[in-house]
Amino acid sequence: MAHETSTRTLTDDARRASANNRSEEAALRGTDHDRNLHDTRATITRLEYPSEHLLRFTARLESGADDPAWASPNVTIRMELGEDFDDASRIYTIREFSAASAEIVVDVVLHGESSPMMRWARNARIGTVIAFRGPRQHFIVPEAKGRRAALFLDSTAIPALFAMVKHWPTGVQGTAVIESDDEVAVAELKCPPGLEVLTVVPGSATGLSAHARMLESPEEHVVWAAGERDAMREIRKHFRKEVGLEKDDVAVFGYWKRGVTNTEIDSQRLHAYKELLSAGGNLDDLDDSEISI
Ligand SMILES: Cc1cc2nc3c(=O)[nH]c(=O)nc-3n(C[C@H](O)[C@H](O)[C@H](O)COP(=O)(O)OP(=O)(O)OC[C@H]3O[C@@H](n4cnc5c(N)ncnc54)[C@H](O)[C@@H]3O)c2cc1C
Repeated sequence: MAHETSTRTLTDDARRASANNRSEEAALRGTDHDRNLHDTRATITRLEYPSEHLLRFTARLESGADDPAWASPNVTIRMELGEDFDDASRIYTIREFSAASAEIVVDVVLHGESSPMMRWARNARIGTVIAFRGPRQHFIVPEAKGRRAALFLDSTAIPALFAMVKHWPTGVQGTAVIESDDEVAVAELKCPPGLEVLTVVPGSATGLSAHARMLESPEEHVVWAAGERDAMREIRKHFRKEVGLEKDDVAVFGYWKRGVTNTEIDSQRLHAYKELLSAGGNLDDLDDSEISI
């Protein structure tokens, strides 16, 4: 009897899991979510370690390289890591794209956990094939309209800043506060004149959110920030609720959360997205900061 019960439970669980996967797959492959993204592969052609904190890989696209979206500032891909790495998927930023060679360059911050992406990074070799979906346009610095730009980011968003400064609007001035112990990655940034860079050592008492609160004349700024989710939440709250900036002037996104795997964060995001779809909404209505993770 006990055996029958457990067999039935396993079968039910498997059926439920399979149904969940099918509905997740359907939600994620819907035209709203995918928005002309490519489902393709790339082969690693180059591996570098610019610093002890960073793996930089170059990979040649199998298809879709003629899509002009690759050259936009701050686009991302979702890498499918495969069954050796818990079938996890992870989002990474395109630091650079070459249309001539059909190659993308991605920087992976080596954060020291034994996580799916860190295990993938340890195993990556020239010739490794990566399955992914992209390029997806991510937040860029809001239009300044005569104001200054205040940027707050950690190491994971340095590739985004690297890509965005290439397209920096003429004459916009501001400050980028970067919490990072990777001096090489910071030094590689080619910031335009007028964009001052301030580096903060991770773990110092005056972190990103403290710097956000110290900003002079905050009401005369637009804000872009990306990094650890709790730090980002504080920054968003400060500029939206305390300073009173408009939603469109504050682009803040949590890239990872201390102590929580992105597998869990993605599952919460998907849940929120599916609820939104069934209520008749779409991806534009999804406010990541509202999801309680
Ligand atoms: C839009 C977007 C763009 C991104 N672009 C980049 C990019 O270009 N380069 C990049 O390196 N990352 C980038 N990230 C962040 C990256 O996807 C996450 O860091 C991811 O969680 C790494 O997966 P993992 O398997 O190593 O760790 P997970 O399984 O997600 O987490 C395992 C543990 O590691 C910790 N952890 C995860 N990331 C970090 C970190 N950076 N530092 C310290 N601890 C961490 C978690 O808190 C958790 O305790 C981006 C994220 C988003 C949403």
